[in-house]
Amino acid sequence: MSFQNPVFIPGPTNIPESLRKACDMPTIDHRSPLFGQILHPARASVQKILKSKCAEVFIFPSSGTGGWETALTNTLSAGDKVLAARNGMFSHRWIDMCQRHGLNVKIVETPWGQGLPADHYEEILTADANHEIKAVIATHNETATGVKSDIAAVRKALNAAKHPAMLFVDGVSSIASMDFRFDEWGVDVAVTGSQKGFMLPAGLAIVGFSKKAMEATKTGTLPRTFFDVHDMAKGYANNAYPYTPAVGLMNGLNQACDMLLREGLENVFARHYRIAEGVRAAVSAWGLELCAANPSVYSDTVSAIRTPDGFDATDIVTHAAEKYGVAFGVGLGEVAGKVFRIGHLGSLTDVMALSGIATAEMCMADLGLNIQLGSGVTAAQEYYRGHPAVAQKDAA
Ligand SMILES: *Cc1c(COP(=O)(O)O)cnc(C)c1O
Repeated sequence: MSFQNPVFIPGPTNIPESLRKACDMPTIDHRSPLFGQILHPARASVQKILKSKCAEVFIFPSSGTGGWETALTNTLSAGDKVLAARNGMFSHRWIDMCQRHGLNVKIVETPWGQGLPADHYEEILTADANHEIKAVIATHNETATGVKSDIAAVRKALNAAKHPAMLFVDGVSSIASMDFRFDEWGVDVAVTGSQKGFMLPAGLAIVGFSKKAMEATKTGTLPRTFFDVHDMAKGYANNAYPYTPAVGLMNGLNQACDMLLREGLENVFARHYRIAEGVRAAVSAWGLELCAANPSVYSDTVSAIRTPDGFDATDIVTHAAEKYGVAFGVGLGEVAGKVFRIGHLGSLTDVMALSGIATAEMCMADLGLNIQLGSGVTAAQEYYRGHPAVAQKDAA
């Protein structure tokens, strides 16, 4: 395996040199105003990236999965009903976590490759006249299938049903890469991690709580200690944590947010869309199909690509690692062996994407798939030539 090549897994993502340096810090007193100078700006910047003016941001030494647990355990009680669709491995895992915490999950089985069924949610929520459903848990970007869901539509379904359930959104592979609107969509808890759109090593769970979610912490009785947001808030008031924070990662987060905000969020989203369109042009030139059912659900951070029947898609990933030192993502769960994934999020340029597309082509040709070398690269090149990158605004 080469450390020189970019990775094309959908997280962890490539770490820019400046962020690697930002994480590499001498020890400081993590209960001191100096730590506060890292902590408070990081929380304020995350709030901006969530497009929120009111979200309370908490940052745990953990990963995205810990963010799921933070959302559930702070706001809900055993036996509470929650509504969730299962359309991939990540939505499946969050559902599994709900069940392990004794929540009663109303699961809407959804074909892998499709988005969350907001219309069906409206029916279910309308029928729930006694408001037994306490939360809708939604995976914004299903990383296993490369499917983006319409969170605004889920909010609309809740409003149309005049239902007071909270809306929890997993934005682990969308936040900081694809448009995410905490306030406008009426999100109550947003969950992400450090190692995808934020371009950092794994190690932080990053969550935003709405006022309503903070209110729910007063009635929720699920046990919580490590992920207790009130303990955390008390620590923050004293420039500290209830335990030892990951100071270097927090410093990295601060700088990552600065980078993203300097580029401009809309420019970041446009860059991801443009790179993704090039990858999709390549897939189409190969004569292959995405797992995502139609363009309205195409993810701009990861593409899951179906390979022909009888071919094990995982072989592409193994071969790419062994022969070319390049990492792609394997298919997970129901689509294991049926798809391979190209992650295209975080610190990535069109030129880097072209190297991934070229490598995927070599692998598929090596393994006997009927792929014309250069076909996908040409399609992506044409797309990138015809759709120049948005000029970066001056940092000042
Ligand atoms: C990566 C990912 C997770 C899990 O995050 P970890 O940081 O690995 O715990 C959850 N949800 C989605 C959508 C993801 O892409």
